[in-house]
Amino acid sequence: MFFDILTLFPAMFSGPFNHSMLAKAQEKGLIEINLINIRDYTLDKHQTTDDTPYGGGAGMVMKVPPIYRAWEERSQQRGQETPVILLSPQGRKLEQGLVKELSNRSGLILICGHYEGVDERVRELIVSEEISLGDYVLTGGEPAAIVLVDAIARMIPGVLGAQQSRIEDSFYNGLLDYPHYTRPRAFRGREVPDILLSGHHARIERWRRKQALKRTLLRRPELVKIKKLTVEERELLQELKEELAGENDGKIGS
Ligand code: SAM
Repeated sequence: MFFDILTLFPAMFSGPFNHSMLAKAQEKGLIEINLINIRDYTLDKHQTTDDTPYGGGAGMVMKVPPIYRAWEERSQQRGQETPVILLSPQGRKLEQGLVKELSNRSGLILICGHYEGVDERVRELIVSEEISLGDYVLTGGEPAAIVLVDAIARMIPGVLGAQQSRIEDSFYNGLLDYPHYTRPRAFRGREVPDILLSGHHARIERWRRKQALKRTLLRRPELVKIKKLTVEERELLQELKEELAGENDGKIGS
């Protein structure tokens, strides 16, 4: 899958994209990341990419022509149907379902805004979807593009090592992940749960599924409500509710 990223600050990507799994995924040819400097598509000698807003007011607005020219060149190479995503706090909020959906595409063109954002005609002429990381404002679209590429890349078969499973990750199956432990067995009075040392795989799996349900129930109950639970998950949920009710009774009484 390819990612063509239109940005004013290509250097901002070098750390995140040149290390760890994203670097390996590029080496293996599983993903291709192209950083396109919008400044290279200016025609004036000062290479102007932003200007003051019509109507007055604070801040600068990214000009439409350099962005349009950069997009035009990429989409001619890639095909006009390549989705164009504008990173924007006004967009659809990024969640795992959207990540999965996007990972089925052959490629994406991403546009990173800066300053007050991009001229509205960028949206009107070339953007197919606006995506937001959440209800807060970043200084630029670059950190958001890094997050988006990272989340999509790990959905692509072969990007995660063989021993890693995205299926048990939080949100993949509608629940939060279960707690993980590694050596040492005891640390500052905190012991690894006995069940994990039992070697009994079926019981360990059941314990993990129950812990995943418990975490989700306590932290994100709305996710449990919308998940289609299996028969075993329904049983575990019932057990959990009884246990939690028992714990609460204990607290009230003490
Ligand atoms: N004036 C804009 C507004 O209030 O909607 C915010 C502009 S912001 C300072 C500059 C750029 O950062 C945006 O054009 C966008 O590309 C990016 N950005 C800021 N917050 C973001 C978020 N929550 N998700 C994705 N991109 C964001």
